[in-house]
Order: sequence, then structure tokens, then C-alpha cells
Amino acid sequence: MNKTPLEDWLNARVPGHGDATLTERIDRYQLQRLRETVEYVRGKSPFYRDLFAGVDPVTDLKRFSTLPFTTADDLREQGLRMLCSSQDEIERVVTLQSSGTTGPAKRVFFTAQDLEATVDFFAHGMATLVEPGATVIIFLPGELPDSVGDLLARALVRTKVNPVVSGPVRDQAAARATIMKHPRPCLVGIPTQILALARGDLAGTISKGWVASVLLSTDYVPKAIERELERLWGCRVLTHYGMTETGLGGGVECAAGDGYHLREADLYTEIVDPGTGMPAADGEEGEVVFTTLCRRGMPLVRYRTGDLARLVTSPCPCGTALKRLGRVQGRIGAGISLENGGRIRMPALDEALFPIPGVLDFSAEVRSQGEGDQLNLCFHTVEGGEEEVARNALPALLQGGATGMLFREKELTLGSITFNEGGWPGTGVAKRQIQDHRCG
Ligand SMILES: [Zn+2]
Repeated sequence: MNKTPLEDWLNARVPGHGDATLTERIDRYQLQRLRETVEYVRGKSPFYRDLFAGVDPVTDLKRFSTLPFTTADDLREQGLRMLCSSQDEIERVVTLQSSGTTGPAKRVFFTAQDLEATVDFFAHGMATLVEPGATVIIFLPGELPDSVGDLLARALVRTKVNPVVSGPVRDQAAARATIMKHPRPCLVGIPTQILALARGDLAGTISKGWVASVLLSTDYVPKAIERELERLWGCRVLTHYGMTETGLGGGVECAAGDGYHLREADLYTEIVDPGTGMPAADGEEGEVVFTTLCRRGMPLVRYRTGDLARLVTSPCPCGTALKRLGRVQGRIGAGISLENGGRIRMPALDEALFPIPGVLDFSAEVRSQGEGDQLNLCFHTVEGGEEEVARNALPALLQGGATGMLFREKELTLGSITFNEGGWPGTGVAKRQIQDHRCG
């Protein structure tokens, strides 16, 4: 098994001598960068000047872990006050309007140097999947200069890989035609969109063995979708973790496919107890919090992502000394506490329902029903797949590892199953979560 290419990347990025291990060198480098980052943002941004007023200089990680957090609300409400560069130096602004909310959008600002760091990370991270001469078809937004697809394409050109920027899938036949034009491509895309290509109306028209590999990129990826793509296409499927705030790239799985090796030269990652904000014990699940180490435009210090995951403490089978972030388990607060006890989260539904043949996507809501709670599902299926999906939904929920008990104990009952008629299931970029429509 090939070691993650991020090890070589870090070896080159992190200074130090032969007498220290890579882990020791990374620790030293990160502490130094954290100190510099805190001083930099304090000197440059009114928001951080206020936030860190009276805070002592960072002498060690323990001290660092007592600094106040920053949040998505800060980005929304304090945006420009968090800027550390003049507006002239800003090369790109990414605006994120969360669905269903009004009020100010999140805006994240990047300088040319910040974007270059992302390109550099992509170039090294993609070496996990492709070698020089290969083709990568990018089903992510890539039309605008410095958009994620554009940055990825620039990274691939550097490593002599041929990028084809196709954009999010809007027309399945056109997407298929692009795939068939390039033998043994690597596809990069959004989980439900790539699933629909493999399973939807064009199922079987991309033969097993044609696609060499797939990289799925979002905040979290259902394991069930990975498995189905591997089964249908016979290819390797790896996942990437990142968000706009991490500078798009955050971490990427290695050949072991078991946890993300992190972008440690640019990001310092902590796991904290979401309730108390205290550091989680080694290997315990908690909220992912990161600090940018080299960002100039809008550095983020102890930024709460709202994502739940753990740091994997056991060594990776690929043989690297680098840490791994475990699979993201969904969003904090996105779970629903049920009337009769128990708790349900969207990833649990994903793992139970995506294995059902014909499912392309679904949404879920919980409503009050009599004494308890009821789950209503709205599926997007392959043409003519409605009956099979309706028949299999309850058995799948009863068998699901994280849903079975809730349904067997009647803590949750299955209400209506409806179908989203026709059309393409959308961009799939919205965060997946269960809607809570209970009164009171
Ligand atoms: Zn590994």
C-alpha cells in the first residue's frame, strides 16, 4: 500500500533536522505558527484585537486551547472586521448563503498567496489517486477563476495530470459522454451526484472497469454511497474533507481509505467537547475545530466547524506517521432528540437507506404523531423505482445499525413515504440534515 503523499509534502514544508521525528517537527512547527498567527491577527484585525484583549501570548498548546473560539456567526456578523489584509490584496471572496436562512451570508476572503496554498495542497493530495498522464474529470464548480474546480485543475496541471472541468452534473447524458471520452478517468464530485450517474437512468452504460477512481468531496460522505460506487464501477473510492473555511482543502484519505490525513502544514486541528468546549480526550468524538497556520487574508483561529469526528490514534495502515481524522459523523445539533428517548441523525438514515436499490437521494423530516415521533421520507428514485423503494424502506430502517433499535422499540415510527417527481436531484451541496417539524 502506498504511503500518503502528504508525508513527503509535510517533510518538505516543515523545517527541522534529522534528529527529530516528523511528528516532533510538525508539533514544533505548528506551535510556532499558532503563536505567529495569534500575533498577526491581533495586529491586523479589529475583531481579533477585541477577541484576544488581555490574552497572554501563546506559549504552549495548552495555553492555546484556552483561547476563545470563532464561529460561523462571527463570519456572518463580523466579516470585514476579521480581515487582515487590505481589500486590494484580496483575490477571491467566497459567499456562502446557507439554505433556508435570511440575514447576512458567510463570506470568506483569500489572497493570492492563500489560494496558492490550496493549489499546492491539492497537487500533493491528488497524488494519492492519480499519476502523471492520467485524466481527472471535475464535477465541481469550476467556471469562475479561483473556484474550487479551477484551483484543482491548476493543481493537476502542475503534476502533469490532465484536468477536465465539467462542473456539477446538470445533464447526466452529457456527463456520461465526458466520462466515456477519457479512458480510465478519475472522477471528482459530490456524493449524491456521482451515485446518480452510476445508479440512475444511465445505469450500466458506464461499464465496470472504465472509471479508475472516484474522489468524493463534501463535509461528510455516507459509507453506503462509497460501497455502492465501488460495487457498480469496480473502482477505488476515496473521500476528501474540507470546506470553504479550511481553504477548500482540509484532508484526504490515503490508499487505506480509513480516515483523512490532514493538511497539517496549513491547519491545526483540535477536537473539543461540543458542550463544554474543553479538549476531548484522545480518540474521543467531538467537534472539529481548526486554526489556519499560513492564511493571510482572513485567518481563522479556533474556528468551530460544527462537524463531529474523532482523531484516530492508531497508526495508519499506509505506514505514515501522520495523524488521521476519522469519518465525519454529521453536524452538531443536527441530530433530533426523540420524545420517547433516543436520538436520530441524518448519517444513520443515509447508511440505512442508500443501500436500497433505486435510491438516488432523499430528504427526511420528523413530526409529532400521537404519543411519539414519526419519520416522513421523500425519495428521489430511478424511473419506476418507487415501488421497490417504498417496500424496502421500513425493513432497511429496522436492519440499520443506528436506526434498527429506534424503530424496533417504536421510539420512532415510519410515516409517509413520498416521491420527488422527475428532474435531477439538485446539486447535492446543501448540508444533509433531518428537518424537525414537531410542534412546541
Ligand atoms: Zn494513511
